[in-house]
Amino acid sequence: MNNFEEYCTKFVQSVGSKEGAVSPSLVNSASFGYATPQTAEGIFNGTIKKPLYSRMGNPTSARLEAIMADMDGGIGAVATSSGMGATSLATMSLLACGDEIISIGGLFGGTYSFFSETLTRFGIKTHFFDVDAFENIQKTINENTKILFLESVGNPNMRLPDIKKIAKIANDAGVVLIVDNTITPMSISPLALGADIVVYSTTKIISGNASALGGCAVFRAIHEGEDKFKTQRYAHMSKFIKSAAKMALIPNAKKRALRDFGMSASPHASYQTMLGLETLPLRMDRIVKSVEAVVDALNSKGLDVNHPCLKTHPHHERYVTDFKKGCGSLFTLDMGTKERAYEFLSRTKLATLTANIGDSRTLALHMASTIYSDFDADTRKFLGITDGLIRISVGLENPIDIINDFLESAK
Ligand SMILES: *Cc1c(COP(=O)(O)O)cnc(C)c1O
Repeated sequence: MNNFEEYCTKFVQSVGSKEGAVSPSLVNSASFGYATPQTAEGIFNGTIKKPLYSRMGNPTSARLEAIMADMDGGIGAVATSSGMGATSLATMSLLACGDEIISIGGLFGGTYSFFSETLTRFGIKTHFFDVDAFENIQKTINENTKILFLESVGNPNMRLPDIKKIAKIANDAGVVLIVDNTITPMSISPLALGADIVVYSTTKIISGNASALGGCAVFRAIHEGEDKFKTQRYAHMSKFIKSAAKMALIPNAKKRALRDFGMSASPHASYQTMLGLETLPLRMDRIVKSVEAVVDALNSKGLDVNHPCLKTHPHHERYVTDFKKGCGSLFTLDMGTKERAYEFLSRTKLATLTANIGDSRTLALHMASTIYSDFDADTRKFLGITDGLIRISVGLENPIDIINDFLESAK
């Protein structure tokens, strides 16, 4: 499924045009003229496919959406203002007060606080489980469960889920599975493994150069016969299934989230994102090789590193069999104490200290004092955040330079 060479061809060919401007055109208009009142009516009722207003979609973002949908084997996609925008669009377009989410593995700090604090205020309850807690996940599903949510690689706990097995649990129970696949289908393809919706922070390795905040949600087609979206659990979907058939998840996301919450992508960011996307496979190839080289070197010097490429990691086998092109740019280094972690971060000349990941440059950050500083000790423990934990995102530098800098900084 993860045909890396196929992506190399696909991205450059689909971002560029064969006629006229080769680079995608950047349409900066917020609004669009409708020519006649009849055209306006047609655009609003969906029979005429022309831009309505940039909150509801923009031609530049539409191009990115088409490439992202194709990349995942989805039927359509909605670009958003950020990765959190994509997660909130995908979830809020399905949820109502009284519903429940089962969140598995991970979890990115923003997603954790969205589920545990913000959605709680709207009467939506989330149960959190480790990736391997299959029995408890199954037992917790009830008639109010609307979403199973997981991250394809735990950020920053580096635990890997068995997506196929969890998708089977979701499908058997008739519950939607949403996967945060910010590591991209270069590594794993959740829709092909049975997930329903995939969300991305394109800010990370897809753009790759810290120039554009963005996100995207990719949706599968609604099946012609039986489909879990046609059941009572997702009764609010029926009108979209009537009007848009297999495309129903797109108007549902646009009308239930984009129109009303306005987490719409900026066309400028979508343009920048496409420029990044066309070199994604090459950067990913180099980065995943460097990650393994750096992790091996630090590990052999006795440093406490966490990455599933290590034979001692509990998900090493899953890493080898399921993740064809590594699992992204991250690994963690545990320096034991906050003081030792700060010493390392003060000494490194190579790493940029920032909250981003997946950049062309190597990045590093102390977890407990930054992204996870709002969380109590129990939550940090569940998320694998120890006092000395540093998250590293490996960049495009010469891996030997990274290794030398890190060994020097860890002394
Ligand atoms: C960064 C990140 C997000 C949030 O993305 P933003 O673009 O910063 O909103 C969500 N999930 C994962 C795994 C991330 O790394």
